[in-house]
Amino acid sequence: QERLAGARRVAVLTGAGISKPSGIPTFRDAAGLWKDFDLEEYATPGAYARNPQKVWEWYAWRYQNVMQAQPNRAHALLAALEKRVGEGFLLVTQNVDGLHRRAGSSQLVELHGNLARGRCEGCGQRFSLPDPAEFVPPPYCPGCGGRGRPDVVWFGEMLPLGAFEQAEQAFVQAEVALVIGTSAEVEPAASLGRLARLSGAYLIEINPDPTPLSSWADCILRMGAVEGMEALMAGLN
Ligand code: NAD
Ligand code: ZN
Repeated sequence: QERLAGARRVAVLTGAGISKPSGIPTFRDAAGLWKDFDLEEYATPGAYARNPQKVWEWYAWRYQNVMQAQPNRAHALLAALEKRVGEGFLLVTQNVDGLHRRAGSSQLVELHGNLARGRCEGCGQRFSLPDPAEFVPPPYCPGCGGRGRPDVVWFGEMLPLGAFEQAEQAFVQAEVALVIGTSAEVEPAASLGRLARLSGAYLIEINPDPTPLSSWADCILRMGAVEGMEALMAGLN
């Protein structure tokens, strides 16, 4: 807490675990999505090339789920932390659920895209999907009429241009780095915590289970995201 109270540069990385209390399944847990769905059939460029309609229906279903979910107290406390720290704050998320923005975060980098958007296969334009109740996939580009794909990063794809660089810079410069609810198994996002630590940051992990990052952390809150953020923020003010 004392570290966080005085810090002017704070970088945060979140993963699926922070949205679990909002009812959105993670990927790799016992109850995670990859237990019921084969990622090779849904989340790769090859899967989409083979069966775009099947892939779209899965994404439309996930889009509907996240729109029915509400941001939780951990999302809200990160928005409050952004206000407190100011300019030197950056929140980097692997989540595609949009809950951070809905909770009020604005200094935000979405490394893996967003379920609420499509991206034109022809001209590359990104566009918002219609309301889930009215959405019938696939969507078509408002600019050129081309077919849209989900605006998310699939396995084997590059991260959006500039997004990782911006994240990397924030983690290199951070005095305090906070990693919440990620299994730290997906690179390159997992390397951000290590990078901050090697650059002299105080590294805090919030996760109920150990991860490959745990051995690098200066402080581990072995608990859920909500409890962990409450514990961290309780000491501020
Ligand atoms: P992951 O499923 O690999 O790991 C989830 C982590 O959260 C685990 O380490 C688990 O121990 C932890 N966890 C479980 N309950 C928690 C709680 N209450 N509080 C805090 N942590 C908790 O997720 P990941 O590391 O984000 O995997 C990366 C990939 O998953 C990304 O590509 C991301 O786009 C995708 N994904 C996103 C969402 C979403 O947008 N909400 C959901 C599922 C997967
Ligand atoms: Zn287009």
